[in-house]
Amino acid sequence: MHELSVTESLLDMSVEEAEKAGAAHIDEIKIVIGDLTGISEECVRFYFDIISEGTIAEHARLSFKRMPAVFRCSSCGHVFERERLAFSCPVCGSPGVLIDSGKELYIEGIEVSYDGDKTG
Ligand SMILES: [Zn+2]
Repeated sequence: MHELSVTESLLDMSVEEAEKAGAAHIDEIKIVIGDLTGISEECVRFYFDIISEGTIAEHARLSFKRMPAVFRCSSCGHVFERERLAFSCPVCGSPGVLIDSGKELYIEGIEVSYDGDKTG
């Protein structure tokens, strides 16, 4: 996948927001990832450590929240979350239709600290 470019934009957005708020350092970045994005949290962490070096986001914690893909059965209307690689209805086996994307990828929030508020 394209974790590097994803990580770059997450970092850019966080730094921009933090600087706008006048923050001295980013402590934590809360990221929401849809299950269907195929983004690997481990890869994002790996790249983040590298590209955040020297920025105000260096050593920030990354927390991830997974959003499941939600489907509705085209025949019985049952609503279900995707089970590993299965897209069919657990009740009747008909194919499900995606109703909630699972393709989200955004920053839910960031925790920052300001000058003088660092405990070291
Ligand atoms: Zn069904």
